[in-house]
Amino acid sequence: MSSATAAARGVLYIVSAPSGAGKSSLVNALIKRLSFVFLSISHTTRPMRPGETQGEHYHFVTSRVFEQMAEQGDFLEYARVFDNHYGTSRSYVERELDKGHDVILEIDWQGARQVRAQMPEAQSIFILPPSLEALQERLEKRAQDSADVIARRMRDARSEMSHYDEYNYLVINDDFYKALDDLCSIFIAQRMRTPMQQRLRGDLLDGLV
Ligand code: 5GP
Repeated sequence: MSSATAAARGVLYIVSAPSGAGKSSLVNALIKRLSFVFLSISHTTRPMRPGETQGEHYHFVTSRVFEQMAEQGDFLEYARVFDNHYGTSRSYVERELDKGHDVILEIDWQGARQVRAQMPEAQSIFILPPSLEALQERLEKRAQDSADVIARRMRDARSEMSHYDEYNYLVINDDFYKALDDLCSIFIAQRMRTPMQQRLRGDLLDGLV
């Protein structure tokens, strides 16, 4: 790939977090703020939850379709998370990056490892809650789950959080708007990098030097 083409590509971001850390709310708010960022919608075999829409939250598919897609190499990464399968469409990601858009993958640590192995230039961000107590409180508030279910979610959350040091950036979601500013600053800083500015502000730079 020529350096000009590489410079024209958008940046790929991996965002991981334990459930209850506020990842989806932060990512959705970021996408509203930064028009150059696009979210990859994953494929999953998990049943749709109330309030979810096909193609908006996920592409909900059968196990058979998921397996076929995996065999055909349609996924950039895929993993079993808890009891279901999740995968990222390779063609969507490549297409958006080629257009110069930044792309966010909201995926778990296993998927993050697979993406890093193939695309080492990807930037990875881990979102953490301010404390285990705060996380537990959020999980308890979010759903009327039994104590057993909450305990299991807490175990899963701790297991996901044990991988935080594999990521380039850490954002602590204590105050939502502070965390949103922190998250946005990562995306904005990447855009200010010289090769990206050469592409975005080429006319200005040509006139200056
Ligand atoms: P949920 O079912 O609650 O929406 O997501 C459960 C977990 O699956 C989250 O940690 C989420 O990041 C992860 N996940 C969602 N989509 C993907 C994906 O395409 N690949 C991988 N590896 N994990 C995913």
